[in-house]
Amino acid sequence: VMTLERKPSWLKIKLNLGESFADVTKIVREHKLETICTSGKCPNLHECWSAGTATFMICGDVCTRSCKFCATKTGRPLPLDPQEPANLAESVKLMKLRYVVITSVDRDDLPDGGAAHWAACISEIKRVNPATRVEVLIPDFGADTDLIDVVLTAKPDVVAHNLETIKRITPQVRSRAIYSFSLDVLRHISARGFAAKTGVMVGLGETFEEVVEVMQDAYAAGCVIFTIGQYLQPTLTHLPVVEYVHPDVFKKYKEAGEQIGLKQVVSGPLVRSSYHAAEFFQE
Ligand code: SF4
Ligand code: SF4
Repeated sequence: VMTLERKPSWLKIKLNLGESFADVTKIVREHKLETICTSGKCPNLHECWSAGTATFMICGDVCTRSCKFCATKTGRPLPLDPQEPANLAESVKLMKLRYVVITSVDRDDLPDGGAAHWAACISEIKRVNPATRVEVLIPDFGADTDLIDVVLTAKPDVVAHNLETIKRITPQVRSRAIYSFSLDVLRHISARGFAAKTGVMVGLGETFEEVVEVMQDAYAAGCVIFTIGQYLQPTLTHLPVVEYVHPDVFKKYKEAGEQIGLKQVVSGPLVRSSYHAAEFFQE
């Protein structure tokens, strides 16, 4: 049992790493897969995996961007692994996942940003696991709607693209991403008839009004699901935490978002984009 230290009480959680955890970890390792749950040191890991949800990172583990909040390695990525779609589909089956979230590093080095590989991964998971729901958390693909359409042809059940933070500090927090591009991506997803989802981290120095503004922008872009969670600094070289937002404030964000008209606002200190994703998915 480990506890995260030097954080307010509402962020301290116990990790009970039991037997089922060891099993899934083994499956993931054997298939050379990367989960955000482990690499991102997600505090909800045990809870999610035992509930049959996990988040996989595809297209390698090296990103062409270097966002100031993200622990993913930056550099020149390796070529795509042609076995990845099959390995992923097989792992989802072995892990008996009923809800899988896929995300990727940004592949600004590839002509299609990895879109065809994305589509292959989604299709293969669905072919091998017809009952499993697939949520994708996609990069912006340079806001190229043709590339986004390539991903959408594989018919994911929920399509997320994170704004990550409020408008004003986007340039300091995200690398290369542009706030309005991300809204364009969300608008396109929703216009194509998919459930559009987005989210932000708080504790980076934003005001309450600025969080309300980003929710309004997301709603106007057609988003139905919005997640808000506490930013945690992955290492000392990453952006510092400006504030540990109190759980009561998260509640107020939820109320404000619902008032705006967002169907689902998932707001709380430990909320991550994929947190309890299965519960917030509606057929
Ligand atoms: Fe994995 Fe997401 Fe759950 Fe964290 S919240 S354990 S990243 S599925
Ligand atoms: Fe991390 Fe995504 Fe930014 Fe790459 S683009 S550094 S994976 S948040």
